[in-house]
Amino acid sequence: ALEVRDVVKTFHVSRSASGNNRLRALDGINLSVGRGETLGLVGESGCGKSTLARTLMLLEKPDSGSVTFDGQDPFSLKGKDLLSWRRRVQMVFQDPFASLNARMTAGDIISEPWATHRGLHRTSREREARLAELLQLVGLRASDARKSPQEFSGGQRQRIGIARALALNPELIILDEPVSALDLSVQAQVLNLLNDLQQQLGVSYIFISHDLSVVRHVTDRVAVMYLGRIIETGTTEDVFERPLHPYTAALMSASP
Ligand code: ATP
Ligand code: MG
Repeated sequence: ALEVRDVVKTFHVSRSASGNNRLRALDGINLSVGRGETLGLVGESGCGKSTLARTLMLLEKPDSGSVTFDGQDPFSLKGKDLLSWRRRVQMVFQDPFASLNARMTAGDIISEPWATHRGLHRTSREREARLAELLQLVGLRASDARKSPQEFSGGQRQRIGIARALALNPELIILDEPVSALDLSVQAQVLNLLNDLQQQLGVSYIFISHDLSVVRHVTDRVAVMYLGRIIETGTTEDVFERPLHPYTAALMSASP
């Protein structure tokens, strides 16, 4: 399981409301995600959701506190051990355009993580077979590997992003607003795909979204964030039906 304990992350800012020049983007985060679970992470813009995601991806180093996966602290690891930790946690971003390089083909994009994790597939034949398998997993064709991202629809591009996140057989995928840029009917298709993949692969998700109806539909548990803290966490049903914190109640009633 992934465990986050008392994680604090501050950023230098030129001027903040409190007159302090450090902003506490994460102000003592505690969180755990079990195997095969989908945890929803909700809260208003700027509350720290993406900063937490980036910290779990090791793109930000906490000022204090710890992040562990099955007891292993990635910030104390080096070389191969660090690489194998990195393999376990992957991310899918909101805008497939922003995270996909236009000069690469879909095949290049999906297989790119193998360049840094060389031990995973030894031969090009192995890599090609795995690429075909990944495309099939996300509902794309083998021939799609040769196309460039611009030749796909938004929903298809998000499938490429998901295939890429799966390329290293991760145990946890952080989805930061994965369907927000998509039409409603396409949202449903991508959410169904994520659900199918979870059934098949037993992967865990952290699902970040401002769309509470989507969160309610796809998550097992929900954590509510406010100003860098998690103010409430519980089963999705409890958090939606019986919120304990007034902020959660207000957030829920503000959404249709
Ligand atoms: P949104 O829903 O709009 O995506 P969020 O919950 O993901 O918001 P974050 O992007 O995590 O919010 O930002 C949390 C706070 O940290 C914000 O006040 C933001 O301005 C600040 N912040 C994030 N990254 C940096 C950075 N690199 N330097 C300075 N401040 C930052
Ligand atoms: Mg964000």
